[in-house]
Amino acid sequence: MVEVRRQIHMWPELSGEERDTAQLIATRLRELGLEVQTGVGGHGVVGLLQGEKPGPVVAYRADMDAVRSEVVGNPSYRSRAPGIKHVCGHDAHVAIGLGIAEVLHSIRDELPGAVKFLFQPAEENVQGARAMIASGALEDPAPAAIFAVHMAPMRVGSIGAPAGVGLTGWDPFEIELRDGDRAPAVVDSLRSLSTVPPLASQADMGALLDDMTVEGGRLSHFVWVTGLRTDKTSDGGCLIRGMVRAAGDAEYEQTRARIRHVLERVTAAGSDFALQFGERFPDMHSDPKLVRAAIEPIEAAIGAGATIPMYASAPFFGEDFALFQQHIPGAMFFLGAANPDKGIAAFNHTPDYDIDEDALEVGAAAMASVLLHYLGSHAEEPLGSHEGRSETGHEESSRH
Ligand SMILES: [Zn+2]
Repeated sequence: MVEVRRQIHMWPELSGEERDTAQLIATRLRELGLEVQTGVGGHGVVGLLQGEKPGPVVAYRADMDAVRSEVVGNPSYRSRAPGIKHVCGHDAHVAIGLGIAEVLHSIRDELPGAVKFLFQPAEENVQGARAMIASGALEDPAPAAIFAVHMAPMRVGSIGAPAGVGLTGWDPFEIELRDGDRAPAVVDSLRSLSTVPPLASQADMGALLDDMTVEGGRLSHFVWVTGLRTDKTSDGGCLIRGMVRAAGDAEYEQTRARIRHVLERVTAAGSDFALQFGERFPDMHSDPKLVRAAIEPIEAAIGAGATIPMYASAPFFGEDFALFQQHIPGAMFFLGAANPDKGIAAFNHTPDYDIDEDALEVGAAAMASVLLHYLGSHAEEPLGSHEGRSETGHEESSRH
C-alpha cells in the first residue's frame, strides 16, 4: 500500500484526467482476479470481488484525483507534476481500496456475497460520483450499502465515526444589485450571517474539528456564508455570488430568508435587487445504523477505543459521496492520518499536506473488517430482505 500510495503521489492527476491512476488500479485489480470495468463515468474503475458463499452486495468507494497546489516538502515521493499534488489524501484512498480488495480476495472462499469497489475520478470538482452513477455503477449488481474513508487531520490510529452527520453541502446564490455602490454593505452583512469564525490558521481548523466531537457543541448549529465574489456590471450594478453552508435543512431555510432580509434592508426600496438560489448540493451524512454497526468490527481490527464519535458536520468541506447516499445508505469514516511526533499535522488542501503512512494499514484493516461484518450480518436473511431494511435505514438518516 505504501508503494502504491507513493507511486500515485508522485504522478498526481487532476479531476477528469486520472488516466494513469485508473490504469494502475485496473491492472492491480485484474492481477487479483477481480472482474474489472474501466471508463465508468470518465476514468472510473469498478472491480467486483465475488465471494464463494451466497450473500448481499456491498460497495466500497475510493476517490483518486489530485489538486492544483504548490508542491511543498521534499520526500522521495515528491510530486513530479508541476503545480499538482495530492493534498486531500486521495492517493491514500486508492491504496487503501486496493489493500482492502487484496485482503478480502485472500479470504474469498469465506466471503458471503460480493464487494463492489468503486474507484471514483473527479471528486474535487464533484462531477465523478454523478457520472459513475449515471454510467450504472450502482446497478448490475446493485449494492445494498456503500462505505468509504476520508483522510482526516486526526491522530493516526483513530477513526472518526460520524453518525447522521459528516460534511456539509452548499446552497449557491447570486445577487444582482442595480446600485453597485451598495455592494460592500451587502457583502459585509452577508458575512455577518456566518456563525463560524473565519479560518485564519490551522489552529482554528483544529478547534473546529474538536468541536465536531462534542455532543451539543457549537457546531450542532452553524451557518457559513462563504465564497463571496463581486463583479461590477457594465450598467453600474454589481453581481454578488456566494454560497451558504449550514448544519441542516432548518439552517439553510432560515439563511435564505435572512439573505433576502439583508437585501431588503440595505437596498431600502426592496425592489432594486434580484436574488436567485442555484441547486443545493446535498450534505454528506453517514447513515447512523451503518455507523453504529461498524464500531465493533472497526475496533476488533484496530483496537478498542480507536473510534471517535462525531456529533456535528464539518462546515468547511463537502463530498460528492453524498450523491451515492441519495441512492443507497452509505457511511464515510474519517481516518486519522496526522502524527505530531513525526511532524505530520497538515490539514487537507494545504500545500505541505502529507499523511502518516501507518494510516494505510489502519484504514484497510478497519474497512475490510467493516465490509466483512456487513456481508456476514446480512447474509442469513432471505433474498431481497436486506434491500427493504436498507431503505428504512436510508429514510431515517436522509436529510436531502
Ligand atoms: Zn478529499
